[in-house]
Amino acid sequence: MCEKKRVLVCEFHQETDTFNPIVMTKEDFAAFRYAEGEEGYRLCKGQHCATHGIIDAIEEAGGEVVPSVFVYALAGGRVSDEVLAYVQDRIHRTIAGAGQLDAVCALLHGATCTESNDDACGTILQQLRQELGEEIPITVSLDLHANVTEKILKNADVVCGHQTYPHVDIYETAYRAGRMCMALLAGERVTMAAVRLPMLTPPVGYSTETQPLRSVMDRGQALVAAGTLLDFTVFNVQPWLDVPEIGSAVVAVAAEAETAKSCARELAAEFFAHREAYWPQLMDIDGVIDRAEDRESKKPVILVDSADSPNGGAVGDSVAVALRLRERGSRLRAAMFVKDPQAVEQAFAVGVGNRAEFTVGAKYTAHVPGPMVAVGRVRSLHDGIVRREGPVNPGEVFSVGRAAVLSFDNLDVLVCHAPAAPGDPQLLRHFGIEPKLYDLVVVKANASFRAAYCAFAGEICYADTPGAGAANLHRFRWQHLPRGLYPFDLPADYCVEPAKIYR
Ligand SMILES: [Zn+2]
Repeated sequence: MCEKKRVLVCEFHQETDTFNPIVMTKEDFAAFRYAEGEEGYRLCKGQHCATHGIIDAIEEAGGEVVPSVFVYALAGGRVSDEVLAYVQDRIHRTIAGAGQLDAVCALLHGATCTESNDDACGTILQQLRQELGEEIPITVSLDLHANVTEKILKNADVVCGHQTYPHVDIYETAYRAGRMCMALLAGERVTMAAVRLPMLTPPVGYSTETQPLRSVMDRGQALVAAGTLLDFTVFNVQPWLDVPEIGSAVVAVAAEAETAKSCARELAAEFFAHREAYWPQLMDIDGVIDRAEDRESKKPVILVDSADSPNGGAVGDSVAVALRLRERGSRLRAAMFVKDPQAVEQAFAVGVGNRAEFTVGAKYTAHVPGPMVAVGRVRSLHDGIVRREGPVNPGEVFSVGRAAVLSFDNLDVLVCHAPAAPGDPQLLRHFGIEPKLYDLVVVKANASFRAAYCAFAGEICYADTPGAGAANLHRFRWQHLPRGLYPFDLPADYCVEPAKIYR
């Protein structure tokens, strides 16, 4: 009788921005997923999430899932060492207690740092390799923005990342990783080649829906459709990692090593050649304020402050735009949110309708202007429970913690404990700030706001703002980056290197 192949499945997902100083703890993960064994399996199986994609691929191919550990959080600062230690301990216990294991399929983000570890994903893969041996297949599902390190490439047989940004293939990416795992188990020839590229670019500057990245993806997908490649990924690393090993990468998977190598090199060369095109057109803050003051339409100008987007891993505590509005004595009706628990609690003490001097923002992120010190009026106080209007998950409830709306003349500021869903207009609307009725709305998001805000915006302006997620990478005081990295000090004679087989 043929025994089912048994595949260890584990998840550790968080995207780190090392410029965000707030460490993410077990509680931040528990708000989403912090589970193990059968409980984790049930949580993932029931949702259209990435891990569900892995599970489906394994079970459809007749394999058995051995669930290990499942922890998930959104983007933010470094993860506490405690969380990584928990993940490693659960993996160790699963291996010790599971009996026969034939393979591993891991769901990782790929750009995750802890307090003391710059490559948490590589560390997990190394542990799996060491505990299970060189022969066992290990495949991994990663984010397109993963930092694909040597440790990841040396310990995984195949890595699969998203082929879309914005990511709309989360389930499908994980399914590909599961399918590759089952192909390896079935004895099929599967070889991965990789090219690493010394390149950082800001996510707000590109999309797989637009050129030139679209043509790189089309080329890769054509190679898969033709049967030349089994899989490919273009990893455009998220750039807010001040670590010694960082870069973009391209991987190609084929039956023959030479095919994988030549396709990886070809795709990498095209991806890299367009590097100057992956940058957004940024306006300075004053330029955007001028546009709002000079406009003829009644529709609001949206100032996109992607540098302070909590979705991108930043804090959400910047008041850079508020300060410029006040310094200019602008009469624009303007609105924004700011993470500031102290200001919230002060507002509760002061009470609705009363005035006080507030010190707002700039309490976490280093090297941003502020705080803003001004006398404001407490307009309203809230428990911070909000329903999304969409288009993502309309009706779903999220919490920003206790919150208050403070008015400083024409400037309305939502202060809250933990900003969330920054691209959803309900983050303002719910609190009585109707974006349509303002001249200038500061939106701290990268791309998630577009669908909802484009419906009523007069103009959308991406601003060159400071913050832990700044698109202008020259703003940061980098300390640990390697030499020879684009856009900083790439040697003029740099050539894309040949692809390597790491295993
Ligand atoms: Zn991503």
